[in-house]
Amino acid sequence: MIAILKHGTTQEQTDHLISWLQRMNLDIHVSEGAHVTILGLIGDTSRVDMELLSSLEIVESVKRVSEPFKQANRKFHPHDSVIQVGDVKIGGGHFAMMAGPCSVESEEQIIEVARAVKASGANILRGGAFKPRTSPYAFQGMKGEGIELLLKAKADTGLPIVTEIMNISTLDLFNDVDIIQVGARNMQNFDLLKELGKTNKPILLKRGLANTLQELLMSAEYIMSEGNENIILCERGIRTFETYTRNTLDLSAVSVLHDLSHLPVIVDPSHATGKAKLVPPMALAAVAAGADGLIIEVHNNPSCALCDGAQSLTPAQFDQLNKQVNRIWEAVQ
Ligand code: PEP
Ligand code: MN
Repeated sequence: MIAILKHGTTQEQTDHLISWLQRMNLDIHVSEGAHVTILGLIGDTSRVDMELLSSLEIVESVKRVSEPFKQANRKFHPHDSVIQVGDVKIGGGHFAMMAGPCSVESEEQIIEVARAVKASGANILRGGAFKPRTSPYAFQGMKGEGIELLLKAKADTGLPIVTEIMNISTLDLFNDVDIIQVGARNMQNFDLLKELGKTNKPILLKRGLANTLQELLMSAEYIMSEGNENIILCERGIRTFETYTRNTLDLSAVSVLHDLSHLPVIVDPSHATGKAKLVPPMALAAVAAGADGLIIEVHNNPSCALCDGAQSLTPAQFDQLNKQVNRIWEAVQ
């Protein structure tokens, strides 16, 4: 349930209403806009007398929110959330171009790719240090050392970095990481989500391989319910019966998520397709569909990549794509 307060309501009146609602065992989420304050009532609202609440002098209107996600819900928060990462903003008209290798492999590799993607216009560097691989015998990532190398690339280029966490026990290693990624395979690792909710780090939350959009938003809700509202949602393709592509890119997710939620939505055409050739057209389609950003795998030598070479663009291909992305972005603004 949400209560929209009238313009001109004083802080004292708002506080008074909040304590009254809290006495009904509800948690209250306050969203302050320029002209309007919205109270989100979280918990068992069955005992709230809607008519009584609506009749209060300071209350403009009261609505039941039927979706199970509350804090991620656009009804709670009509304006787009903008996530700030260093000097970079994501969402609400600010575009994020995240690019870099699937995995950090060496200092030379990550620095070379970081400089190249920055020169082409990327504003965030990606790189996996902890890699969730289907086979336990495959390269598992450089782990802590990989994060150190990402931090060197950040110092060298000034680009903020995004990298995946797999286990909360490694959280200390992420102190200087700008955005923590929760990968598709961990989208419903609820204990991990709750712990990340206690941090104030921006979280890049990827959709699970077989998860619905409502489930994705409920996972965002896990993080938000612990206090961290800095979430970027990511559509990265889902499992279908199609085998030609690695996954099936569900581009309608961008519009659906924008309708349902105020959180920024980015698209990962690399994991969605699994094929470098398909990355540019799907990246452009995602921007045309209204995505707030892209995350793209770029490798200086894709044929020798330790992970996901087949879907990685070369720096030159990325450079060309980024120019096209800028044109589409301008066109749809
Ligand atoms: C990745 O970003 O390298 C990755 C493993 O992505 P996903 O979790 O979407 O498969
Ligand atoms: Mn990858």
